[in-house]
Amino acid sequence: MTSASLPLREDVPLAPLTTFRIGGPARYFAEATTEQEVAAAVAWAEAQGVELFLLGGGSNLLVHDEGFAGLVLQMKIAGIEALGDGVFEVGAGESWDGFVARAVAAECAGIECLAGIPGSVGGTPVQNVGAYGQEVSETIVSVRAFDRQAKAFVDLSKQECRFRYRASLFNTDARGRYIVTRVRFQLRAGGVPTLRYADLQKHFADAHPTPSLVAVAAAVREIRRAKGMLIVEGDPDCRSAGSFFKNPVVAASLLPEVAKAVGGEVKDVPSWPAGEGCVKLPAAWLLERAGFVKGYGVGPAGISTRHTLALTNRGGATFADVEHLEEEIVAGVEIRFGIRLEREPVVLG
Ligand SMILES: Cc1cc2nc3c(=O)[nH]c(=O)nc-3n(C[C@H](O)[C@H](O)[C@H](O)COP(=O)(O)OP(=O)(O)OC[C@H]3O[C@@H](n4cnc5c(N)ncnc54)[C@H](O)[C@@H]3O)c2cc1C
Repeated sequence: MTSASLPLREDVPLAPLTTFRIGGPARYFAEATTEQEVAAAVAWAEAQGVELFLLGGGSNLLVHDEGFAGLVLQMKIAGIEALGDGVFEVGAGESWDGFVARAVAAECAGIECLAGIPGSVGGTPVQNVGAYGQEVSETIVSVRAFDRQAKAFVDLSKQECRFRYRASLFNTDARGRYIVTRVRFQLRAGGVPTLRYADLQKHFADAHPTPSLVAVAAAVREIRRAKGMLIVEGDPDCRSAGSFFKNPVVAASLLPEVAKAVGGEVKDVPSWPAGEGCVKLPAAWLLERAGFVKGYGVGPAGISTRHTLALTNRGGATFADVEHLEEEIVAGVEIRFGIRLEREPVVLG
């Protein structure tokens, strides 16, 4: 790259930069530690006529075996600024789990149930991460980003981000247009933890008084560890991109058919209301009823032994191995229930 402040590397392996540990190299690779470097990288890619892909922590990503022929820019902007009254301004390159630890230690509530989610702070608004009864959009005030179309930095309000289940402006209509550089959060200073989720309620059933935010975040990490949903070095069940399939939202009128497919009644089908006339079904339940249970698969790619929704790299898996397994599962669930599952992770290459 021409700018000395933004060193460029070539043919950089991407697999080690992802939690799946799969995929070929990036033709060009750079890190951005400042907003100026973000703008410089975009300008360089445009001048060279190569595509630019923004990499965060690589925890929601599946890279093709051939790699990526353009520039991979990894977000490294750091900094967690406490602005008082539970307001935090955080650099997009900070570790999400590190920010959660800092927030709960400062007795600020609102993200304690999102402890243990890997990846960067800048990655969280992209698919509006959620777990154990919380979604990141509940606490986001605004997102600062480089708008590649307008070639300028913009501050997007929460409303402009158009958050919904595992979706936002950033991974739908405006995919690839914005590079998130900072996120501003409004947490609840001195607030009590959210204990909406059954596993958490069970964990704290005998707790008097209300558990601390630190205790809830620790419990979430323990529950995640038991399911292989916490990154632990050497644990093959977490060599994944987390949940591989989204929970499908379908017309409520489909429920009798789903029940019939498992020889049961509508009341036996787990579901949550999801807007007018629609319900959300647990993808894990559909997989299991279609025969795709924990530990499924004989090859190097298989279903986690502890979490039905996580496809894992058992060692030496390729993009093609995961793709074959994905196709088999999607087809199996569709034949059984008439519902087509959607992939959650982003594919690069
Ligand atoms: C073990 C495990 C458990 C997980 N559990 C959960 C969970 O409970 N809930 C949940 O919602 N997700 C979960 N995930 C998925 C993943 O951790 C999140 O989606 C995370 O927020 C992705 O962030 P990242 O920085 O790793 O993004 P990456 O994987 O690097 O990128 C994902 C996408 O976001 C884009 N992106 C990343 N950073 C930016 C940025 N700064 N600006 C613009 N675009 C950007 C990328 O271009 C790409 O399109 C899990 C993953 C794993 C491996």
